Amino acid sequence: MRLILEKPFNVKQGKLYIEKVSCVELVENYGSPLYVTSLQALNSNINSYLNAFSKTNFDVKFLYAVKANNNLTIMRLIAKKGFGADVFSDGELYMALLAGFDRNYILFNGNSKSDEEIRMGVEAGVSFSVDSIDELNAIIRVAKELDRVVRIAFRVNPDISPETHPKIATGLKTSKFGIPWKDIKKAYEYAIKNKNLLVSGIHCHIGSQITDISPFVEAIKRMFDVAKEIEKLGVDIEFIDIGGGLGIDYEGKGAPTPSEFAEKIVPAFEMGLSSINSQPELWIEPGRSIVGNTTVLLTRVNAVKKAYKNFVAVDAGFNLLVRPAMYNAYHKVTVANKMDERESEIYTIVGPICESGDILAEDRKLPVVERGDIIAIFDVGAYGFSMSSQYNGRRRCAEVLVDNDRTYVIRERESYSDLVANQLLPVEFI
Ligand SMILES: *Cc1c(COP(=O)(O)O)cnc(C)c1O
Repeated sequence: MRLILEKPFNVKQGKLYIEKVSCVELVENYGSPLYVTSLQALNSNINSYLNAFSKTNFDVKFLYAVKANNNLTIMRLIAKKGFGADVFSDGELYMALLAGFDRNYILFNGNSKSDEEIRMGVEAGVSFSVDSIDELNAIIRVAKELDRVVRIAFRVNPDISPETHPKIATGLKTSKFGIPWKDIKKAYEYAIKNKNLLVSGIHCHIGSQITDISPFVEAIKRMFDVAKEIEKLGVDIEFIDIGGGLGIDYEGKGAPTPSEFAEKIVPAFEMGLSSINSQPELWIEPGRSIVGNTTVLLTRVNAVKKAYKNFVAVDAGFNLLVRPAMYNAYHKVTVANKMDERESEIYTIVGPICESGDILAEDRKLPVVERGDIIAIFDVGAYGFSMSSQYNGRRRCAEVLVDNDRTYVIRERESYSDLVANQLLPVEFI
């Protein structure tokens, strides 16, 4: 299968370009491995969402899921487009505030929040998606202590099974997330009595990398079932948050665009609105579909070996991109300095980590690969760098943002001292 390149990628003189910058030159200038993000692609994804929902007769708000990619520059660019943020930890809250997301549209998610995290969220004045009654009681305690009113939604487990990898399906009855469907009314009943809480939202998130829109429509119906029930309790519903999860086209098999997404879910939301008295905003929490296809990982070939398979060993492994090892995920790859050469051999691309599971791409037809070549791995902007580690004493690589013919380093490569940062050697053991 010949790789079909779309904007912002193109080929000049046999070399892969991202916008107007050569990937080979990027590696020469900034070293390998290297994460490279296209500003054009990022803006295009953001604008697709904004345009798709620009003509609704209800308000729509986007909360970017910070966990997909928490680079500050990338988050700042998203925040400047008016997005809020979905955060899952104190650290993500810290970074989201730093990036300047509007705190009225920061939702503190998560199924396991410590008192310290709750306190930080309450002090920052963000809203909470509450995952259990235990957590709710902790929020009440903190809110009382600080004399604050905290805006909350419950994370509803809608018991919906989208077709995706089991590890990223989060709305199943068996999943650890959310209040079980049968308990949800009781939870609202309990919360609404408390004067330190402003009970105003309903939240769900059914999973990730979902390419069929019907589970979202189903989830919206279920959210409005909840809405009808809790209005009877006196709740004025300010937002219904359907989470993120729209998939992207990793394999060249297609994926719905935000406008195709809108076409189906806007009518479902309108229908729901006609069945209640409140006028909630629709909140959507895209992560992957905002950043996924904006970024390539460039990695240099250290060795080519004919063994059980034709192995190409590169300098990036699951330390920098864990998705193939963790989810069996497919990422397109190409040889960035041999774009015009005929694809004639089958290769398996492996990383430098001392684990046999350190495979990035299996059985791919590529031009003859040699030591020194640059492999580009596509669609790594989501859950790529943000899931990276220093395993095997590997420093995390640099990140570069490309805008037309300009490049900006948006994260420097780690130093060796970063590998031992925060470690202490007690004087007794010197
Ligand atoms: C992970 C997550 C998202 C984003 O999911 P994507 O598949 O990246 O769009 C949104 N909301 C919640 C609650 C999440 O956990």
